[in-house]
Formats: sequence, C-alpha cells, structure tokens
Amino acid sequence: MFLKDFLFPKICVGCSYLGTYICLKCQKKLKYLEKESCFYCQKPSPYGLIHFSCQKKYSPDGIMSIFYYNHILKKIIKAAKYKFAIEVLKELFQVIDPQKIKKLSFFADFKKAALQPVPLHVSKERQRGFNQAKLITSFFQRFLLFPQVDYLKRKKETKPQAEIKDAKKRYLNIRDAFSVNPKIKVEKDKVIIVVDDIITTGLTVFEAVKTLKKAGFEKVFVLTLAKA
Ligand SMILES: [Zn+2]
Ligand SMILES: [Zn+2]
Repeated sequence: MFLKDFLFPKICVGCSYLGTYICLKCQKKLKYLEKESCFYCQKPSPYGLIHFSCQKKYSPDGIMSIFYYNHILKKIIKAAKYKFAIEVLKELFQVIDPQKIKKLSFFADFKKAALQPVPLHVSKERQRGFNQAKLITSFFQRFLLFPQVDYLKRKKETKPQAEIKDAKKRYLNIRDAFSVNPKIKVEKDKVIIVVDDIITTGLTVFEAVKTLKKAGFEKVFVLTLAKA
C-alpha cells in the first residue's frame, strides 16, 4: 500500500465502497450503448451515422458513444471533472471491455484523421489542471492511431451548459465559443473526430463541429464516452 492510499483512501464514486474508485458491483452497472442511432431522428443507424436526409448545414457526419449516461457514469464523469480525475478515468479505462468497443474500427479505416478533444477555455484548464476530454482522447488513441490535435480553441468563457435551464440561453452561451487556430493548414480530406466526455443536447459538440466545417474540414465526426 502506498502512503498516498493510506492518507487518501480510494472510495468508490458510485457507492462509497472502500479501496477502489469503481468497485466491482458498480462496474456491473456500466451500460454499453450497443445499438447506434442517428442523433437527429433517433432511428437506427450503423456507427451513429447521421442519415443523409437528416443532415443540416455544418452538422456532424456521425455521433458515436460508448456508454449510456446512467447513474454510475454520471458519478464517474462528475468525479473526473473535479477530483482524482486521472485515477478515476484510469480505472474506468481498465474495465472497458475491448469486445464492446469494436465499433471504433469504423474510424480506424480512415486514411487521414485526427482526434480533436473539445477544448476548455485556457483559464478553466489552468484552474482545473487538466482537460478531461484530452484524457479521454488519449484513451481512444490506444485503439485509433491518429494524432491528438489542438486545432480548436475555446475563445469564450462559457458557463457549464448543465447549469442553464433555458434552452435559448444555453444556445447563446455556447454560440461562437470556438475558433480554429489560424496557423493550421486546413486539409479538406482529413477527417476530424471531435472527442468529449458526454453528449446531452449536443449543443457544445455541434458548435465545435460547425467551427471546423466552416474552416474547411469536410468530414467531422463526434466520439463521446457517454450519451445522455
Ligand atoms: Zn461501488
Ligand atoms: Zn436520421
């Protein structure tokens, strides 16, 4: 046992069981998203591809998630934002069943692609000490041999979307929140995979995708750890 474990014993984020951040009982409550659907019409669609008829200008080409955002995932993501983030996510990544995420091979077939974590505002990332989307992206890099890029910047300090009740205010909060680094060379044929912890209304990732498409990227997908 390390001194650290003695001073700060690990406690399960789901049930407060001592000795681990995600205990065996809570691991069993993780629910994999097995049937992918189109985010817009909710009808089945392989790999979460957005139906051609459902696409809007600058909408993502597909949205894939690993887990349902149930009670246990909610606790994990919350912990991952505020404390012991790296340790909690590390435990989650250890228990993810590779068989259940075989669908990632859809992306592996792309010839030229990059993983873009949804950025935090510089001041927030400094305050928090990390960006959980970057940690999640590093996990996906075990399966997808694409570079993690920093094309997007969060230029606006936004309030957490979950704290805003009014739909219009939520939209205004996130609108124009991102910009594309002017120094990068936009390669139209490079597929961008935007990575985030969770997708709920989709406003945040949609805004990120829109910013990339407006800059000239033609294919932009979304990959999240959880789907609400
Ligand atoms: Zn537990
Ligand atoms: Zn559809």
